Amino acid sequence: MSNLLPQAEPERCESRPDAKPEIVSYPARSADLGAGLTVTRALPLRQHRMVGPWCFFDYYGPLTFEGRKVMDVAPHPHIGLQTVSWLFDGEALHNDSLGFQGLVRPGELNLMTAGRGIAHSEETPARNSGRLHGLQLWVALPDAERDRGPGFDHYKDLPVLEPGGGRVQVFMGELDGANAGTCAFSPLVGAEVRLGANGHLRLPLDPEWEHALVVIEGEVGLDDQRLAPAQLHYLGTRRDGLELIAHQPARAILIGGAPFDEAIIIWWNFVARTADEIRAARDDWQAGRRFGEVKAYKGERLPAPPFQVRPIASR
Ligand code: MN
Repeated sequence: MSNLLPQAEPERCESRPDAKPEIVSYPARSADLGAGLTVTRALPLRQHRMVGPWCFFDYYGPLTFEGRKVMDVAPHPHIGLQTVSWLFDGEALHNDSLGFQGLVRPGELNLMTAGRGIAHSEETPARNSGRLHGLQLWVALPDAERDRGPGFDHYKDLPVLEPGGGRVQVFMGELDGANAGTCAFSPLVGAEVRLGANGHLRLPLDPEWEHALVVIEGEVGLDDQRLAPAQLHYLGTRRDGLELIAHQPARAILIGGAPFDEAIIIWWNFVARTADEIRAARDDWQAGRRFGEVKAYKGERLPAPPFQVRPIASR
């Protein structure tokens, strides 16, 4: 997906390595991107920027549609990050400037590593179920890896844990000894958690990591608090496990990882360290350099918005 919310200024993002076990809930942002696609953005928020290396969290749907492409994100560039595309229902088609094509369905993962630069499009395929519900997350690449060559991977066999009354599928990194085996450059976890009616589950967590939950459907109970949808529930660090309950069926996403000790700058679809890097990436995209062409997409590519730099607060 493209970062299409109005945002003329770069955002500086850091995780919080000094955090404690806590539950701090922040309201997510919402935006109508046109064509019936409204996204809810749980990261970055003004009050909270990163969770481990996770720096962007958008989800959309559930939607039903007929006779049109509900998702149609024209070719656009990325640098310095991985895009993680995960669906709960429906399907989405990825094409990129390396020539890779990936059709993603529920339970499968499309993972694009941008490195120093790639362009891609994401759209509803011509043959579709008429339904769409899913998310896109970004993982910031650490400094030592962010200039690597780009790549794309599609994964079908991702591990499922069944702790008591729930079902947990790990799509990035590691959780409770189950490793997704997906391409990653920092210690992290991304997992979908599902609970049935009166469901209950317990998951061990790495106490050195920070974690957050985003409830997608239903309501989840944790530490005598009710966690509602459309919020980022930041859980802090020093937490060695998670005990979740649900009265009605519920679905949530768990993200976490080792606190990311580098400050990053996010602007449009770029994750960088300096304004000069962002300006160079924008200029290269506008001039048709660096990122290549998404030949499989029929239509115009997305132009970059104007880039304005103002002083950025360090916190
Ligand atoms: Mn994208």
